[in-house]
Amino acid sequence: MYLGKLCKYSGDCNVYQNKNKYIKNPVHIVRNVFCNRGIKGWAACERFKLYEAGMPVPDELIPNG
Ligand code: SF4
Repeated sequence: MYLGKLCKYSGDCNVYQNKNKYIKNPVHIVRNVFCNRGIKGWAACERFKLYEAGMPVPDELIPNG
């Protein structure tokens, strides 16, 4: 349950979809640190910053850069 704190890009984002091969930690941990955490988590995510800026988001990019 994330009470509206789910990143709005989760449907497109390969990290949230567990399709980013550069993610080394279990995906549920990454989701809890970044994606399901509201603005605190999203603002720390390099992918989120690019999505927000309307820029291309490289497939290989992970939340902490
Ligand atoms: S917080 Fe980052 S990693 Fe998570 S869904 Fe949003 S853009 Fe993707």
